[in-house]
Amino acid sequence: LTEKLQATFKRMRSQGRLTADDVREGLRDVRFALLEADVNFKVVKEFLSQVEEEAVGQDVLDSLTPAQGVVRIVRDHLTTLMGGQVERIKMASNPPTVIYLVGLQGSGKTTTTAKLAKMLKQQGRQPLMVAADIYRPAAVDQLQALGQQIDVPVVFSPGLSPVQLAQEGWQKSRQLAKDVVLVDTAGRLHVDETLMTELVEMHEALPAHETLLVVDAMTGQDAVRVASAFKEKLPLTGVVLTKLDGDARGGAALSIRQVTGLPIKLVGSGEKVDALEPFQPDRMASRILGMGDVLTLIEKAEQSLDKDEIEERAKRIGTKDFNFEDFQAMLGQVKKLGPLSKVMEMLPGMGALNKYKDQVDDKGVDRVEAIINSMTIQERRKPDIIDGSRRLRIAKGSGTTVQEVNRLLKQFNDMRKLMKQMKAGKKRGMPKLPLK
Ligand code: GDP
Ligand code: MG
Repeated sequence: LTEKLQATFKRMRSQGRLTADDVREGLRDVRFALLEADVNFKVVKEFLSQVEEEAVGQDVLDSLTPAQGVVRIVRDHLTTLMGGQVERIKMASNPPTVIYLVGLQGSGKTTTTAKLAKMLKQQGRQPLMVAADIYRPAAVDQLQALGQQIDVPVVFSPGLSPVQLAQEGWQKSRQLAKDVVLVDTAGRLHVDETLMTELVEMHEALPAHETLLVVDAMTGQDAVRVASAFKEKLPLTGVVLTKLDGDARGGAALSIRQVTGLPIKLVGSGEKVDALEPFQPDRMASRILGMGDVLTLIEKAEQSLDKDEIEERAKRIGTKDFNFEDFQAMLGQVKKLGPLSKVMEMLPGMGALNKYKDQVDDKGVDRVEAIINSMTIQERRKPDIIDGSRRLRIAKGSGTTVQEVNRLLKQFNDMRKLMKQMKAGKKRGMPKLPLK
């Protein structure tokens, strides 16, 4: 899936410039990506019409890197749809704060209860946990073991009902001077009346400041139905998406947010008690799109590229004046972005150089730079003067071999030729070199 999407954008990139049709076609593939990531169909439809509108409005045809513009719009929209920013757990101004964890069996309630207790403890809170899943003795044991592990007291008393246990939890928090009561509740394999009634009664006996629905990210579309059903009966305040360390793409996050309006507050990323993190919409957007690397590069490019420098140098590409000084300067800019093989796929106009991609492992780049550094300024400006004895000197100076120097010179000449051809092509109305 990821590969598919990357292929799409690569196709867009390699054309240099986007037509409106390209945008539409690209978004068609984004649509498949979202559906495959298990995003709700209606959500996808709405999303795409918004993005298309915005993309067209932004005159993507004229931007320097249209494909990047589209990626960014897609990503930004996804981020906004999922709430835009990190949502905090609300704390009562008058402690104790009461937090319920509800959800289906196996979704991760008990684990998340302990994870959250640990997280709050690290933030200086004094939590206490209530084992209110009385139907499965193992569940109580599980919470008690976790409580020992993180050194947080667990309230449980055989014979008490879940409602009574919730009240007991509140009493104990007063006695022990605890400021957060975390209630781990029972789940069922499916949403049912008994489960809901019990949870409602617990909320009546001990009102909640937060009621977090715990949802397994792997359940995809099912998660949306579960969330809707729980929201009908309970004052849900947020969602915890668990098991994101698995290969779920996280489409559930977008769907749940869109369909129920509930903020995703936390994500579980492992079985250990510290594998809980605040939900970050921008990171989830990248994950759903499966383009994390590409988006990181776009951000880095915005921050660190000296576009003037690149454009200035690029003007000389395809003229006989293009020389090793230009090459060196461009390499310097490009290297700021990260591993070169990846960067080359990204940069506008570098598509033409993709056939060199395999030759540019990053150690190789360092050696290329060393070779250029060992040239005199004269040699950099007029590479044609580099004869046999100069090659030997350069090789020695740079700690490389004559073969390597020869290879670089040959590649450089090939590249110059190629770019000259492309430039000539432009005059005949062929695709422009997007680096101008
Ligand atoms: P409950 O029935 O809702 O209380 O679910 P549990 O807390 O007992 O968790 C069910 C299973 O999912 C356990 O094996 C947990 O270790 C596992 N689990 C919970 N959260 C995560 C998570 O974020 N990542 C992974 N990999 N496993 C998790
Ligand atoms: Mg449990």
